[in-house]
Amino acid sequence: MSTEFLSTLSNLIGARHVLQAPLDIEPFCVDLRQRYLGQPLAVALPGTRAEVAELVRLARQFHVPLVPQGGNTSTCGAATPDGSGRALVVGLRRLDRTIEVDAANNSMTLEAGVTLARAQQIAESADRLFPLSLASEGSCQIGGNLATNAGGLAVLRYGTMRELTLGLEVVLPDGRVLNQLSGLRKDTSGLDLKQLFIGSEGQLGLITAATLKLFARPRARATALVGVADAHTAIDWLGALRERFADRLTAFEIMSADCLALLRDYQGDKVPFIAPWTLLIELSDSDGQAALEEALVEWLSARDMED
Ligand SMILES: Cc1cc2nc3c(=O)[nH]c(=O)nc-3n(C[C@H](O)[C@H](O)[C@H](O)COP(=O)(O)OP(=O)(O)OC[C@H]3O[C@@H](n4cnc5c(N)ncnc54)[C@H](O)[C@@H]3O)c2cc1C
Repeated sequence: MSTEFLSTLSNLIGARHVLQAPLDIEPFCVDLRQRYLGQPLAVALPGTRAEVAELVRLARQFHVPLVPQGGNTSTCGAATPDGSGRALVVGLRRLDRTIEVDAANNSMTLEAGVTLARAQQIAESADRLFPLSLASEGSCQIGGNLATNAGGLAVLRYGTMRELTLGLEVVLPDGRVLNQLSGLRKDTSGLDLKQLFIGSEGQLGLITAATLKLFARPRARATALVGVADAHTAIDWLGALRERFADRLTAFEIMSADCLALLRDYQGDKVPFIAPWTLLIELSDSDGQAALEEALVEWLSARDMED
């Protein structure tokens, strides 16, 4: 049965895109932190949406469970197959085309296997910003970002993938394709089906493409590290920063003393001080660099006098 499945699959997407040798499938079997180890039947690397749809139909016919996998960076085992040897891992990395960049509409449509870093570069080439940014951006893929509803560093200002997505294309569990790729912002009609798939971790279908929002590129950034006594004080700071800088406040992270002590072990003096709690504040703006820095320094000085 599995021999027939694999040979039909090989005819469908090409034998070299159906990995079965232990060394070839090894990277797909283990979670990034090596806490989960699985054993798939094989790994399939389809190259087009049509191939994904055919693959899903075939898997349904042969009752083969599917495990979608993007960059395999999600660190919680959801992209790892179980140990039964029955599941087919579906790697989306060959779906890496740019379908459209519409700078006038501030949107771009990409296939799901485009890495996040590449998506940022595509936006930058059109003098736009795609604001999702995570430490794994060199490896994680747009499909994985959508399936996990990734947040990243600039959530305060731009939101998670839910807020960054205008349209989706998904292959459903029966092989039908739900095409809702659209750059329309004021879509007030009916249910917003795409939101079902965002954050669903591959349970409801395989995401093959998405239309994503773009923004004006910030021309200025200003950052500050501030030591505070406790989390309540940090929340006061967040409120005050929002009041003063509104949506120019781009990032606001809180780090414990233990976290910074650990970082100092690796980075030495790059960690300038260790307070009970440390805030990392980032502002960004389309105005000049000097003006933004000046505004932040002025505000910090005034607040220092208050405290
Ligand atoms: C150093 C580091 C920093 C990180 N920082 C953040 C952070 O700041 N914010 C954050 O949210 N996450 C963060 N992550 C977690 C991770 O990078 C993100 O969750 C990322 O979005 C996962 O993308 P991926 O392509 O690697 O997905 P994978 O790990 O391959 O898959 C994740 C899930 O999505 C499913 N999936 C993948 N592709 C598809 C698809 N095309 N269609 C349907 N389902 C699919 C998989 O089955 C699995 O359930 C970080 C990870 C690392 C290692």
